[in-house]
Amino acid sequence: MADMTEMSLKDRLEESVKRYQQTGHYQGITRLELKETEPFRYEKVYSELRGALVSARETALHISASPIVRNIGELCFAFYTPEGDSVAVSTGIITHVHTMSEAIKFMIRQGYETNPGIKEGDIFCNNDPDLGNVHTTDVHTIIPIFWEGQLMGWAGGVAHQVDIGASTPGHDPVATANRFEDGFYVTAEKIGENHEVRKDFKIRAQRSVRTPLYWDLDEKCRIAGIYMVRDAVHRIIREEGFSYFQQFMLEAVEEGRQIFMARIQERLVPGIYQTASFMDAPYKGKAWHPEQNHDFMMHAPMTITIDAEGHFKLDMDGASGPGPFPFNASEGSMQGALWVQITQTLVYDGKVNDGSYLAAQHYFPPGSWCNPGNALLAYGTPWAYLIPAFTGMFRLLSRGYFARGYREEIVSGYGFTGDPTQGGGTLSNGAYFPVSNFELCAVGLGARGTMDGLDAAYAMWNPEADMGDAEVWETVESGLLYLSRRFKPDTAGYGRFRGGSGWESLRLVHGVKDLQLYSWREGRVFHGGAGLFGGYPGATGYRLFVKNTKFYEMVAQHQPYPLGDPDPAARELDTGLGGDCFVSRDALILPQPFQSGDVWLSLFSGGPGYGDPLERPAEDVVRDAEGNFYLPKTVERVFGVALGVDDQGQFSVQPDETDRLRRDILAEREKMSVPYQEFWERERQKILQKQLIEPVKRMYQESMTLSPQWSEKFKSFWSLPKTFAFELDNL
Ligand code: MN
Repeated sequence: MADMTEMSLKDRLEESVKRYQQTGHYQGITRLELKETEPFRYEKVYSELRGALVSARETALHISASPIVRNIGELCFAFYTPEGDSVAVSTGIITHVHTMSEAIKFMIRQGYETNPGIKEGDIFCNNDPDLGNVHTTDVHTIIPIFWEGQLMGWAGGVAHQVDIGASTPGHDPVATANRFEDGFYVTAEKIGENHEVRKDFKIRAQRSVRTPLYWDLDEKCRIAGIYMVRDAVHRIIREEGFSYFQQFMLEAVEEGRQIFMARIQERLVPGIYQTASFMDAPYKGKAWHPEQNHDFMMHAPMTITIDAEGHFKLDMDGASGPGPFPFNASEGSMQGALWVQITQTLVYDGKVNDGSYLAAQHYFPPGSWCNPGNALLAYGTPWAYLIPAFTGMFRLLSRGYFARGYREEIVSGYGFTGDPTQGGGTLSNGAYFPVSNFELCAVGLGARGTMDGLDAAYAMWNPEADMGDAEVWETVESGLLYLSRRFKPDTAGYGRFRGGSGWESLRLVHGVKDLQLYSWREGRVFHGGAGLFGGYPGATGYRLFVKNTKFYEMVAQHQPYPLGDPDPAARELDTGLGGDCFVSRDALILPQPFQSGDVWLSLFSGGPGYGDPLERPAEDVVRDAEGNFYLPKTVERVFGVALGVDDQGQFSVQPDETDRLRRDILAEREKMSVPYQEFWERERQKILQKQLIEPVKRMYQESMTLSPQWSEKFKSFWSLPKTFAFELDNL
């Protein structure tokens, strides 16, 4: 094989792609020679590299002052080959390991080696979603690593910003309609030389965001981490020799690829797995832009094809269109999401690197919401579409695990890491404070095939989920105090095993001159499809705030005040605070003003359930009621468990009454059920007569227009005429 070190970086990347295409192995490596000849040495080097990345993250996060980085560790570090393929990763927001890979490859393909040049001591920065990132809020700092004058790899670090200078304050905007509102863009720029960030870039960055202090300290944090990675790599090279390390990098990626394929063969049954997920984006009547004034819906059909050799392909043909909203997801962000899910479900104990990405073929249809290929769109909050879309992957893999007998690997999905309280304001002394809450990094995980889901402890994009300390959020969001944080009953999806529970935070606006707040999460659509095998989805979200409350008077008079919204049917916040209570099932609240004494509720999602809730042991259901995971009336209605209550308020099961209730529910189900043919005909008539609400018609028409194959499939399934189409006045 030709020595690649004499080639230009661009030629090396092309050669690497060619070798993979020709041989099916990374860089054409068919044998893992180092691993076979000296397995302990090989594993030791991998562990040293991985350990260096983890400790870079653990150390560097203390440099940041941002609560998002420091409080919950929303950053990660990775090491890449010269061609930009990740070899090893730290813990943290590892979705970005692959997005930084795309940024490095972009710089190589654009010929950065000649202009602006790639030299020892250079520092690069990227946050452009159109070339690999998720949203502008995630800022990458990347350095080339040299050994004796030769480029031998890259180190990258990413952190999620408190504010990125979008048209509204916050990190995941909802009111934006195009690129020019996304905020501060740094498109794979060289921002430093001789190991120092340029002064002119620093000045530009300081003037481009609302929180310059956090920008500065986050950048220092990333730079400290990537230099720790560089030093560790140099140390390993001194110990092991340069040629050993060069060969090691390539074998580690190829091993990652082989592990992935072996795992697919071991865990899944060959075949075609299909599902679909949805999300609502209701802008009609509240849009800030004329072109945005519609109710949109996202369609995320997903097909995974597995063959007997362990090949894996994920295909989203039929996805609906992009739009004048910030939920468009670049192909790079979808690849990052695919990567992070693989590392949590299939390759969690192997070599986590781009080898598994190479082994996972994927198709995100060009021109759709998940690969728009249009740099002018808004990409501020692709998570709103991406997170629900990828619940499909958990469901599909879980069906495969079930078929293979790996019950303990099943995960029915996850809660939606949405409803971040966002905005910004000034205190009465005139000081600006951001509202960029990130406690959403801890929602309910879906039920497993053998146990309940984790309560308030999961984020699909950061396997080290953490809600952070309320006190820390308060020190930053200084005009927004916590009144409570507690489990939210009835958010966990019902099932034989229940989903992990969601929770709620109640916040008081206090001591402000002005403040704007906004939020988003699903409203009318179950974000994670259904549960699994008879389990139910987690509850949908809603938005609630109370203005003009009597809160301060109540406190002055030592009266108790409500601490949340445990039972929406008996809304304590409405009656208890004496103000104007606003409740909406819409997925979005666009920025609007608040004043001291107003109260804001944040709801965090529960995960879907697994199996029939009537099969859940009654004793488990009693514990659910005791733990405030379900209201007593829900226990009765859904699980068919009759609760007794003693003088101390302790619950118990009433066995005879429970048997009767469960039999009644089964009888009721039988009465409601219809033969499949009848169901199909009823739904077909709705489609044929176009009796669907406008956002659903719009969504399906977008899918049909973008994909003739999907259109054909849809029409043949529902036996529709060949010319069938939804006519939309304002599409
Ligand atoms: Mn982010």
